[in-house]
Amino acid sequence: MIDDTITVFWHDRMLDHEPPAGTYKYPSSPMIADDERHPDRRERVKNIKAMLDHALPEATEYESPERATRDEIERVHDSEYVDWLESFCADGGGRIEDTTTGANEATFDAARMAAGAAMAAARTALDDDGSVPYALCRPSGHHAQPTCADGFCFLNNVAIAAEEALAQGADSVAIVDWDVHHGNGTQEAFYDRDDVLFVSAHADHGSWHPEYHPQEGSLEEVGTGAGEGYTVNVPLPPGTGDRGYDVLFERVVNPIVREYDPDLVLVSAGQDAGAADPNARNLATRDGFLRLGEHVRHLADETADGRLALVQEGGYQQSHLSFATLGVFEGLLDRRVELEQYGTDDPFAWLEEPTELVDSWLDKAVEHHQEYWDLE
Ligand SMILES: [Zn+2]
Repeated sequence: MIDDTITVFWHDRMLDHEPPAGTYKYPSSPMIADDERHPDRRERVKNIKAMLDHALPEATEYESPERATRDEIERVHDSEYVDWLESFCADGGGRIEDTTTGANEATFDAARMAAGAAMAAARTALDDDGSVPYALCRPSGHHAQPTCADGFCFLNNVAIAAEEALAQGADSVAIVDWDVHHGNGTQEAFYDRDDVLFVSAHADHGSWHPEYHPQEGSLEEVGTGAGEGYTVNVPLPPGTGDRGYDVLFERVVNPIVREYDPDLVLVSAGQDAGAADPNARNLATRDGFLRLGEHVRHLADETADGRLALVQEGGYQQSHLSFATLGVFEGLLDRRVELEQYGTDDPFAWLEEPTELVDSWLDKAVEHHQEYWDLE
């Protein structure tokens, strides 16, 4: 069972990754006078650490991970791709063709550290020491597919962590992905398998590149062969907020994970469903993320003897990400931190969500996934 501390797996090397600047996440344009730093900037994770150090100092422990080895990475990724990524970064990196994904000379090493952090978090969960493991990964991982980088991701941290859990003796792993983007890389890694359940709720952004991101994240992508039914996609409409995410878990995520009954719950914890995130149009606040933290803690307690590990994915409004992630930690720890002493609360919680629209989309998801799961 979980106690009242968080173990954050972190290494400063993950700050050294920096994608190329441009017009927001895109290449430079003559219409923009000064290039903007890429939205995957190091302040994202620095601010999460700063929030933890101020809001939950007595409840936070840091551990330094080991880099994932080549063999561990190749449980998920093809060796040709890993060769390419290593030499691309060794040559200085740059933008990958016409995508929004780019690297520098530190990216491969940082990505190995991030994957190692996710693996260490999974091992800690299996060891049942009571503390909640949180891998504060950068770069993120859930868009990285076995054969390519995508969506600011290079190595699929949560997939590599799931494989590590299976290698350590777990029989089944449930991955819950609440990042506002579809975890297409994770889906791809386990699409034909039933030993890893993948549940992703995300904005309905569809495919964003024919070569690097062909997956749609649609209801219809349910897995193949032995994996049929074990990929569960739930597209959400723009404006989905705290209430919508709560209903999503009550109606879809919780019953499916309970029915699957995994040995370990892994969470792709991207807080870019946050209101004001520049990479999405959803409206979750610190309070909503607190509920998400509660939901996954309870799910792990009910199904996996409390074995739970979280892996950082996206979140790009660099101030709000720390408030949203504080909400996650508060939910995990079943406590609420009084922030007034620091002069601010969630600074973006001021828009109402379109509840009828959200409910109608969730009705469609429930109806679709009833083919495989006992949903109401
Ligand atoms: Zn995302």
